[in-house]
Amino acid sequence: MATDNFQAHDYYLMDELLSDEHKLIRDTARAWVKKEVTPIVEEACQTTTFPKQWIKGLAEIGAFGPYIPAEYGGPGLDQISYGLIMQELERGDSGLRSTASVQSSLVMYPIYAYGSEEQKKKYLPKLAAGDLMGCFGLTEPDHGSNPNGMLTNFKDKGDHYLLNGAKMWISNSPFADIAIVWAKDESGEIRGLIVERGDPGFTTPETHGKWSLRASATGELVFDNVKVPKENLLPNVKGLKGPLGCLNSARFGIAWGVIGAAMDCYDSALRYSKERIQFGKPIGAFQLTQKKLAEMITEITKAQLLTWRLGVLKNENRATPAQISMAKRNNVNMALQIAREARQIHGGMGITGEYPIMRHMMNLESVITYEGTHDIHLLITGMDVTGFNAFS
Ligand SMILES: Cc1cc2nc3c(=O)[nH]c(=O)nc-3n(C[C@H](O)[C@H](O)[C@H](O)COP(=O)(O)OP(=O)(O)OC[C@H]3O[C@@H](n4cnc5c(N)ncnc54)[C@H](O)[C@@H]3O)c2cc1C
Repeated sequence: MATDNFQAHDYYLMDELLSDEHKLIRDTARAWVKKEVTPIVEEACQTTTFPKQWIKGLAEIGAFGPYIPAEYGGPGLDQISYGLIMQELERGDSGLRSTASVQSSLVMYPIYAYGSEEQKKKYLPKLAAGDLMGCFGLTEPDHGSNPNGMLTNFKDKGDHYLLNGAKMWISNSPFADIAIVWAKDESGEIRGLIVERGDPGFTTPETHGKWSLRASATGELVFDNVKVPKENLLPNVKGLKGPLGCLNSARFGIAWGVIGAAMDCYDSALRYSKERIQFGKPIGAFQLTQKKLAEMITEITKAQLLTWRLGVLKNENRATPAQISMAKRNNVNMALQIAREARQIHGGMGITGEYPIMRHMMNLESVITYEGTHDIHLLITGMDVTGFNAFS
């Protein structure tokens, strides 16, 4: 069992920008990760298991739908609190943060933002408590970056809808109780449906052989003439803006989350550089190691400032999708570069499970691809500043 010596880094005194409530929420999540996650996360990854006992703990620290109001069972927190919780979870593991992100932004958010009152009352309190787990089906085998081309579809059969198609790369699908599924209606319009496990024709085969996010369960969603009750259609959104609205919220969480992974790598590298002696002195005394560490803390600090400002804008409902894209892209890339440099500072030890580095690095290879790839977010920024669409 690995010892967790993590210490957070706050080079620009960012804590002064946080309220006492923010700090309490962050510290509660941090303490829970230290007690319940880091002691077993390495083994969970080595054995490709998502420890189900984490679900109740995640609910207790408010990680499921942090900003969902109390009347629907959520903690009713602000966006910065949401970000801070994601940061602490991803300090533990990106797979853990993914589970909470999906439940919050990709399952609870669409029900809250686009669902009927009955749907909100039926599902949200149970999702907030972790009594129900959800997943989000947008990506298909032949449609990843271009979800508009999706083939999954449903037909109106009078008293129900008939759903056909397949989704892949779906986080939490192997154990989710419900799935938010994006599919085209007979007029070709994208709509959201709530599909429940147990509906005949609905299966969720698990995806095996991943080298990344190994503590997060990933799978497919397969719909073979699945009868979906009409009351399970999300009534208040049509078109791609439905799933994109969810992704905005999730990407915001990722921009914060990856700072946690970066901090963990930096913290470990800093400590190792002071302890590891080569040529008669600590490797941290060599200029080349100092360059790596100095650049790491500079990039972490810039990312912290970016997300804090983004959080303020999001609290004021002023954060644009393009601003969120910029933060997701910048911060994931920052974290991945830091993980790679930290791996080098640890030398051979960096490839072992004794340190969290390689696990974070492998996880971040997924995070840089999902929820919009690194290049797709660049194109979003490019389109925003030039007005020209370079996607197609
Ligand atoms: C571990 C994991 C978990 C996931 N969880 C979920 C989930 O819960 N729900 C869900 O719906 N999806 C999920 N995804 C899917 C993820 O969102 C997609 O993998 C992602 O959107 C990219 O799609 P793709 O893999 O099909 O790649 P592609 O779209 O095929 O892209 C391949 C490459 O081509 C590039 N490219 C594509 N189009 C362009 C263009 N116009 N210009 C320039 N370059 C381009 C991309 O940037 C990329 O580098 C998950 C993925 C992973 C790996």
